[in-house]
Amino acid sequence: MVGKEQEEIEKELSKEYVALTYADYEVGLKGGKLLGLKCAACGGITCHPMPVCQWCSDRHLEKVELSGDGEVTTFTVIRVASEGFEDDVPYIPCLVKTKEGPCVIGRLDMAVESATQEVIGTQVKLDGISTYNGDKFFSGEHVCPVFKIVG
Ligand SMILES: [Zn+2]
Repeated sequence: MVGKEQEEIEKELSKEYVALTYADYEVGLKGGKLLGLKCAACGGITCHPMPVCQWCSDRHLEKVELSGDGEVTTFTVIRVASEGFEDDVPYIPCLVKTKEGPCVIGRLDMAVESATQEVIGTQVKLDGISTYNGDKFFSGEHVCPVFKIVG
């Protein structure tokens, strides 16, 4: 199975390089924390978790908690469900540029009727998680951050 192979690869990588696994990232979200990685070489913040800095590719990374504050870069409204997301529609996937720099994929918690182009650029804050089962390409249940508009 594709999912198992990926899991094994991640486990292998985590022994040597990974200061924050995707599983740790999801545990953080469940506890209300948006976790990322701070680079010892350039000082940049990486999120979602990766084995290297997203800005300079250095491997010296330390787990840090992000503020959860950011700005909506873009979003869309999903009304037709893809496999595994039938119970979620309609929903609003969004890309949030965090205060710390990296862009994070999540969902926007607002009425779909209110989701107009004016939402782009508004200030948001981490406000919980969304749990999804996903499709046959995912290995089980996952969570993503949910943001609400504050500005
Ligand atoms: Zn770096």
